[in-house]
Amino acid sequence: MGDVEMLEGMPVALGGPRGMGVVRTLPNKDRRMVGAWCFLDAFGPHELAGTPGMRVGPHPHIGLQTVTWLLEGEVLHRDSLGNRQEIRPGQLNLMTAGRGISHSEETPAEHGPVLKGVQLWVALPDRDRTTAPAFAHHADLPVVTGDGLRVTVLMGTLAGATSPAHCHTPLVGAEITVAAGTDATIRTRTDFEYAVLTLDGAATVQGVPLEPGPLLYLGAGHHEISLGAAAETKVLLLGGEPFEEKLVMWWNYVARTHEEVVAARTSWVSGADGRFGQVHGYDGASIPAPPMPITRLVSRGRSRDGS
Ligand code: MN
Repeated sequence: MGDVEMLEGMPVALGGPRGMGVVRTLPNKDRRMVGAWCFLDAFGPHELAGTPGMRVGPHPHIGLQTVTWLLEGEVLHRDSLGNRQEIRPGQLNLMTAGRGISHSEETPAEHGPVLKGVQLWVALPDRDRTTAPAFAHHADLPVVTGDGLRVTVLMGTLAGATSPAHCHTPLVGAEITVAAGTDATIRTRTDFEYAVLTLDGAATVQGVPLEPGPLLYLGAGHHEISLGAAAETKVLLLGGEPFEEKLVMWWNYVARTHEEVVAARTSWVSGADGRFGQVHGYDGASIPAPPMPITRLVSRGRSRDGS
């Protein structure tokens, strides 16, 4: 239990000050990553009546994968590869930015009353981070049930089931529904570090009460993780081999150096080199790049002490 850390979320307005509110738990000031998972935003439940819903205009990414997972509602994704894909609960959108992609995300015209979900980023390892951009929609993910748990495997392998989604480093991501009155354990890998976010309800994770909001970091060395709930609860389990490469994260970019970020920013601002392509069909403006900070960006390790 020595490694357990309660990582509090930070409220952020997505797409500017009038944008939809999200709670960001990764990166956190003390704990920047869990495996290669380097970004975690949870949003909703948002009542959409009388609001524009999600409106995130075209913006670029490099060096990462985006993972979108909904609990309620719909999001329409468009990208510079020409993909136009609506996502619903139980489905995974996985966009691999590699050397460069741009995309938009919006509430489609026909939509349900409520939007709720998470968006995560996975850092690509140095050997793959300039790979060609790609997009995949996985509507048929493996589901394993037993002991009061219903496990949907988004990425990697858990409970003997493996997601078809393409991972570049050893990691896992799963949604687990914990039935009312459950006190169960799930087998885990001792070489992975893990963290759990409650999506709905109230869980007990390794004996620690966990409601929606903070991310509970569990560290590595666990053969199993215990999950309990008095009433039906949904959690997101994240894990992975500790990611040892240091990153420069700025805006929508995961890079290694200040200069790389400057170059990718210039590519987005000028559009001259075609690096990020064009998103067609989004009815609104692209998101402008923020100014570079006055100081040089420095690379950071997975936790505050660099370990
Ligand atoms: Mn994005």
